[in-house]
Amino acid sequence: MPELPEVETIRRDLETRVVGHSFSSVQLLWSRAVRQPNPEEFTHRLTGQKIESLERRGKYLIFHLSSGAALILHLRMSGWLHYTSSSSPLEIYCRNVFFMDDGSQIQFCDRRKLGAIWLVANPEEVVGKLGPDPLAPNFTPKLLKQRLQKRSAPIKAVLCNQEVLSGVGNMYADEALFRAKIHPLKKAGDLSFKEITRLHQSIRQVLQTALSQRGASIADYKDTEGQPGTAQLAFAVAHQRGKNCPVCGTPIQRIAVRNRGTYFCPSCQKLIHSKNS
Ligand SMILES: [Zn+2]
Repeated sequence: MPELPEVETIRRDLETRVVGHSFSSVQLLWSRAVRQPNPEEFTHRLTGQKIESLERRGKYLIFHLSSGAALILHLRMSGWLHYTSSSSPLEIYCRNVFFMDDGSQIQFCDRRKLGAIWLVANPEEVVGKLGPDPLAPNFTPKLLKQRLQKRSAPIKAVLCNQEVLSGVGNMYADEALFRAKIHPLKKAGDLSFKEITRLHQSIRQVLQTALSQRGASIADYKDTEGQPGTAQLAFAVAHQRGKNCPVCGTPIQRIAVRNRGTYFCPSCQKLIHSKNS
């Protein structure tokens, strides 16, 4: 699933191309992706709207429009956006097409048809409950401590909860926990401040590194030109079952944490730590 680095890569690529341009029309080939309003109203209200700016909140992409309304996209499991400067054949699994006033188009491709689209007066209706962004300047170890405290769920599950922290998903949670040497099943509320400080730094590092590598392409994700990211090539544990831990050589294990495939090193990430860890 595209997480913060993938969505931010898309945002940066699109920003230089579409801000200042208007939607000339929309072709809804899979109108069920539109959650709000109904497809007819969606098409009518979006057509002619100019894009003022492009924002990312967690894994959501927000197009701020000249009317004051916002077009919001969520790629979910298998979505990606294909941008072409002129009309071109539809990509495989293209579900919806946004045509721009300069002849370019954004194709919303989505193999599993789980992606979602909203057109709302106030973006907070959709993204209002999201937790803080881990790359924002105000994301500090202290803030992370506040978000984790009193939570008895496994830290892996809590990191993936978008209302606790926005933008981190399965892949980067595994990578951050490995770097911080924290077992994915440890209760979030039981982490020491030392562990939280390590985790805070690890989360930022894995996200920033992945962003510099234009995201990870494990399954369907591609950038707006159809190119894969390369962050997965540097993964230490995520999707590395059977390979050896790059630090200690122990085979990476995969377990399920709240139904999420979770990869970790059983030697570097022990469930019981000494008091000083
Ligand atoms: Zn290890």
